[in-house]
Amino acid sequence: MKYCYCPACNRLQKWNWYSRKVCESCGRECVIFDVKRSVFGALMYAFSAIAVILIILHASWYTLGLEWASFYSSVPSDTSTWLIFGLIFLAIVCTFLDLAKAEKRAQERVRRGINRPK
Ligand SMILES: [Zn+2]
Repeated sequence: MKYCYCPACNRLQKWNWYSRKVCESCGRECVIFDVKRSVFGALMYAFSAIAVILIILHASWYTLGLEWASFYSSVPSDTSTWLIFGLIFLAIVCTFLDLAKAEKRAQERVRRGINRPK
């Protein structure tokens, strides 16, 4: 996860690859640095991937009735629906936890001095 730190106005903001390398407040050039993702980032991707697989299985069997997905009939439709929403909820929670951890690490990095190694 990348952050943009402006030494001129001491502002720290999240940075996206499509953003310009300037501070949103004062327009001066900012320092871009990478912050290591937490375990919640990996969990967010894992929960999302499992949810996508379950959505495909659910739609294939319960909506379209495709034969290749007939093994999924062992999971009741209601259970499947709750599982999918539960996984999406967990992914959202993990996203917020990951963002909070990254923000904390970025602030720590700025406090220690941006140019020093991680
Ligand atoms: Zn600035």
